[in-house]
Amino acid sequence: MIKFEHVNKTFADHPALVDITTEFKAHETTVIVGPSGSGKSTLLRSLNLLERPENGQYHFNDQIIDFAQPLSSKTILNLRRKTGMVFQDYNLFPHLTVVKNVMEGPVQVLKQSPADAKATAMTLLDKVGLADKADAYPSQLSGGQQQRVAIARSLAMNPEYILLDEPTSALDPELEAGVLRVLLELAQEKDSMIIVTHNMEFARAVADKILFVEAGQILFDGTPAEFFKQPTKRIADFLAAMT
Ligand code: ATP
Ligand code: MG
Repeated sequence: MIKFEHVNKTFADHPALVDITTEFKAHETTVIVGPSGSGKSTLLRSLNLLERPENGQYHFNDQIIDFAQPLSSKTILNLRRKTGMVFQDYNLFPHLTVVKNVMEGPVQVLKQSPADAKATAMTLLDKVGLADKADAYPSQLSGGQQQRVAIARSLAMNPEYILLDEPTSALDPELEAGVLRVLLELAQEKDSMIIVTHNMEFARAVADKILFVEAGQILFDGTPAEFFKQPTKRIADFLAAMT
């Protein structure tokens, strides 16, 4: 379980997160939606401690962090490992094959044996539909395939939560489908995920819970069924603008 309580983050004098209180349950997929510049990425990056809110509390299972206090690098590293971020632009190592990209973290950081790491990597590549590309280099793959390798690489580190910030925004629609299918499968397998997306159809299909963020505030925190009933005029307007 992850919980944010009264979390605030300001850039210069611009409030990006305002008194955020919400819970991200394990084995659920939370989808964060909202207009551009509303604070979605800041919220996601704060969960991974890539951004440091000024104050508020971060609960990760039994661990409680007070953002107003200094954080040790050990605490930061530990929480980063538990919350695996999949970046928009994949960040694959160009000089390593696909399977080596997936093995790199487990071997270097988790100190797994290369044989074990390779076996896990092949299972994960199979899961994302890319077992046949194991020995290819990233430059030989489409954007959608590279993004699926990035997801496999994140899974290989065995994080408790997977965070994805607009995982398909760099992709053509026909490549998007393959990535969304993988994420839907992970959601069905009850992986714990937090996903920022502008794709409302995908949000409705994948989410156990929706957060609607605007001007750094959570304006809706509930089920997709409630959200898509358009409980407020603001949500109705937002959904109308998105389709
Ligand atoms: P988008 O849908 O366009 O990705 P977003 O909802 O992810 O938008 P954020 O990137 O979280 O929005 O930004 C929230 C606000 O904080 C915006 O007003 C943005 O300009 C500001 N902001 C974000 N990062 C920084 C930064 N590093 N320095 C200054 N301001 C920032
Ligand atoms: Mg963003």
